[in-house]
Amino acid sequence: MAINVKSGLENYSDEPRFHFDIYAILEGGQELFFGHETQVNVNVVETVTIPLPNNGEEIDGDGGLEKCYLSPTKRRGVERRALIWAPIGNRLLGDSLNCGIPHTCSKAECPICRVFGGLITSKTKVEGESEERPATTLIGRLTHSGGVAIQELGTEEKQRAMHPSMIRKAPESEPTPTPFKREYNQPGLLYPVYNHCLSMTETEFSAVAYAFMGALARLGAGNPKGVKIHDDILVKDVAEPWIVVDRYLAPLGKRPVVSPAITDIKAAKKQFRRAAFSVAGREPEPASELTQGRFHRYIGDAAIAKLSKYLIEFEEGVLNVDAKAGD
Ligand SMILES: [Zn+2]
Repeated sequence: MAINVKSGLENYSDEPRFHFDIYAILEGGQELFFGHETQVNVNVVETVTIPLPNNGEEIDGDGGLEKCYLSPTKRRGVERRALIWAPIGNRLLGDSLNCGIPHTCSKAECPICRVFGGLITSKTKVEGESEERPATTLIGRLTHSGGVAIQELGTEEKQRAMHPSMIRKAPESEPTPTPFKREYNQPGLLYPVYNHCLSMTETEFSAVAYAFMGALARLGAGNPKGVKIHDDILVKDVAEPWIVVDRYLAPLGKRPVVSPAITDIKAAKKQFRRAAFSVAGREPEPASELTQGRFHRYIGDAAIAKLSKYLIEFEEGVLNVDAKAGD
């Protein structure tokens, strides 16, 4: 029997494929809570320990520094939900596709699963579907990385309390308020984050752009939530969002990834900025757009403008029910 050497990825258009990357520095506008991965009910935030650059010799016993962490897996979950809960007519996109978490539809034609991937471990009967879903593995072509805060600023435990809405209560009623303690990442922490897309069409990437931008206001567990893209002088003498978007065939741009060992904001930003303006081993004059062959890099406001084009494409192509009805 002949063997199969193909990837199995179905094509639905003639669009060319590219790699896409998003590099950004996010800033917490207030304190944030991201629960520790294994401790779901103890209100402890997730941190990572970074080995100190001291040639492997331990300093005062612990040999590492602890940093707050916006883990890529959590960011990925929030982004996927931004798509599942996107509005489409009077419904939500995930409901209209019958695609959720953990039960993904895993269909190649689903705009969510097509980029984030999907998994059905065994044949599954789904409410409202006549045919059982077959066991399926659909590998995602979007990956998430980064998230280690730049500053070495520890978490802070806060005393919180749930206050019932009673205006008047009898003296013998329950004691209120109900107190609890919770750790938080401090406001103003900067989190460098990166999204990478493998061999996508621009239509496929439009879902990634929508998820990335849509998740910004919703990152965090509980309340408060939300980050913004950090603003500062970048290309010229005006403050711009610190974001880089690449579209390419060959990876010619230096990756603006901040080393987790850096704790100084100035040093971190210098490293990001220098890489952002480095293409094919050269450092041309800083510009909003850099091109080398088929490598295109968009920086700052230009990156937001480029992403916005994809957001509109997603809105028109996927969320616009009027356009789908053909009127
Ligand atoms: Zn799906």
